Amino acid sequence: MIVFEDVTKDYKGGNHALKHVNLRIRKGDFVFVLGHSGAGKSTFIKLILREEQATSGRVLVDGLDLSVMKKRKVPYLRRRMGVVFQDFRLIPTMSVYENVAFAMRVTNIAEDKIKKRVPYVLGLVGLADKADRLPDEISGGEQQRAALARALVHSPQLIIADEPTGNIDPKLSVEMMELLKAINSVGITVVVVTHEVALAKRFGKRIITLDHGVVASDTAPAPMEDDEEVAAQ
Ligand code: ADP
Repeated sequence: MIVFEDVTKDYKGGNHALKHVNLRIRKGDFVFVLGHSGAGKSTFIKLILREEQATSGRVLVDGLDLSVMKKRKVPYLRRRMGVVFQDFRLIPTMSVYENVAFAMRVTNIAEDKIKKRVPYVLGLVGLADKADRLPDEISGGEQQRAALARALVHSPQLIIADEPTGNIDPKLSVEMMELLKAINSVGITVVVVTHEVALAKRFGKRIITLDHGVVASDTAPAPMEDDEEVAAQ
């Protein structure tokens, strides 16, 4: 699903964010990407979303080589994944329902599909009864679940949660992790990016630790030798 082959990312000004990173995350995996501030976690996410491109090496998502992907294909790439951003990125003037519906409207999905799908995903995250509320009328944990609902609207194969505990209290963060586990149990790949060692360790899942741009450890590395098909694009 996600393959980094000898990926190096240097920013202008000589910041070496990632250095010769090799990793493989398989479909259906649940993985923590752990690291201190500056370790390269955001860069890792940006490369997967093609918000940034590798300086050298290859990033593959679902067999698609992002270094040669045409710009016009990038929106389709991003629709394959759902991202729950640390600051949730909800539109403050829109209700929970509208926030989720909007993510579908921008991709020209028919209104009757939206009317079915939005209540369904809000139900999945336990927000059916908060659909009409504005973001600032619900708790931080609920805002995060609304962001998760929005990330799920396009039935992504991959969910990336960026610092899921950053803006909510510890009890709610456990609830969020349980939701992510449930999502993973139906075969969706989950990548949780965090600086919290205790959070990553609590769940007994694979932990890839980044340190100063290198993979310092990987508790359950997927084998690199089984060739991943590179899809035509
Ligand atoms: P993390 O998310 O783990 O805090 P980042 O991926 O944001 O790490 O950053 C890794 C390194 O790259 C840091 O040294 C950071 O200062 C640098 N960096 C990140 N983004 C940029 C940028 N746009 N321009 C220059 N340097 C950057």
